[in-house]
Amino acid sequence: MDCYSTKNKHLRIPLKEAILQGIAPDGSLYMPVEIPRLSADFINTIKDKSFNEIALSVISLYFGDHIPLQVLEDIVNDAYNFPIPVKKFDRNLYVCELFHGPTFAFKDFGARFLSRILSYYQLEEDKDILILVATSGDTGGAVASGFYGAKGIKVGILYPSDGVSPLQEKQLTTWGGNISAFEIEGTFDDCQKLVKTALIDDDLRLKFKFSSANSINLARLIPQSLYYFEAYKSFPAKEQNAFIVPSGNLGNLFAGILAKHMGLDIHKLIAACNANDSFPVFIKTGKFEARRSVRTLSNAMDVGNPSNFERIDDFYGSTWNLVEHVKSYSVSDEQTLLAIHEFLTKYDYLLDPHGAVGYSAYLKESSENTNYCIMETAHPAKFDYIYLEHFKRQVEIPLPLYEFLEKKKVSIKLSTEYNQLKDALLSI
Ligand SMILES: *Cc1c(COP(=O)(O)O)cnc(C)c1O
Repeated sequence: MDCYSTKNKHLRIPLKEAILQGIAPDGSLYMPVEIPRLSADFINTIKDKSFNEIALSVISLYFGDHIPLQVLEDIVNDAYNFPIPVKKFDRNLYVCELFHGPTFAFKDFGARFLSRILSYYQLEEDKDILILVATSGDTGGAVASGFYGAKGIKVGILYPSDGVSPLQEKQLTTWGGNISAFEIEGTFDDCQKLVKTALIDDDLRLKFKFSSANSINLARLIPQSLYYFEAYKSFPAKEQNAFIVPSGNLGNLFAGILAKHMGLDIHKLIAACNANDSFPVFIKTGKFEARRSVRTLSNAMDVGNPSNFERIDDFYGSTWNLVEHVKSYSVSDEQTLLAIHEFLTKYDYLLDPHGAVGYSAYLKESSENTNYCIMETAHPAKFDYIYLEHFKRQVEIPLPLYEFLEKKKVSIKLSTEYNQLKDALLSI
């Protein structure tokens, strides 16, 4: 499979190269030259297939030309060893729980696959791969967990001292092994600046091959389409089906678009956004404008300039009528809290704030003759402070999250002066 970049459609590079680079040198995003299709027979018999069977079939459409099937099977089985329950709440309402991976958020799907693919690619490199990430919260934890123990790969995570929650800090700093945590005495922007400087440092390039683990990497996006297939199995046959996708950078939504164009019968994809409404405004007016992000209760979606918009725009640009397949709603914090309350009262089930944005979008959209599945992207226990403050309700913290809180933090404290980071990286 070859890829092009959104700014240069004539440039073609193999998928492997696009994944190793992460982002094109001119800053644009890689796209598969064509989206492969599953056979009608495969789709019609999907209910008889396990998640891992589906995963292997889908993944080999993209990777089968350069990675042996047996290797892909091992990668899929090793990455996806947790359940994906789909629960039915009403005649036409389902929730797909995507938070049963090790970090209790759906980013595990992408991070766990990417790390294993990069480890396989690294076998042909003479240097270790170095992944550097700046994080202000959850991304770092998913990357650390996903890459822990990956052969031939080192991970450096930079985070602002005092800029992350205590649980988030533990999820970054308690790994050891191939994961190093750098606690920067500065802001998130300082961390990001340090990463950018390191990525162009020739001395570091002699020692490492750089790659990227952020959410614009195709090897994070492609596996995210898998759970759409899994959730689809619960829908009744021959009816109209829609997915509601809590959205920030629109990676999850784009993965749903991939699933649809691989052959899954998805009638509509609905991007549920919080007050950060550049995508809903685009759907309404046809004009895209990046905005400054504002803070909300569903903080993983506080994105003013969604990075994957470029992909959606490129894909639908001239040939598809985007608004026929994709809708979007903006939901306020007040509506999010109301949605949590209503779902709890009606169904005795606690939505996390991101899933609640999804339910609020469902209330705005719902039509009688369509089945809706909300993609529930995080475990509510990660937001226990919200339920305590607004509902006076204690949420039980799952044991593995507790265990993080009890582990010992190991981090390297650095100032914002670049040479300190460089010396530290040269010695990992
Ligand atoms: C990252 C994230 C989202 C948004 O996903 P995008 O792919 O950025 O649109 C939604 N919910 C949670 C819990 C997340 O961590």
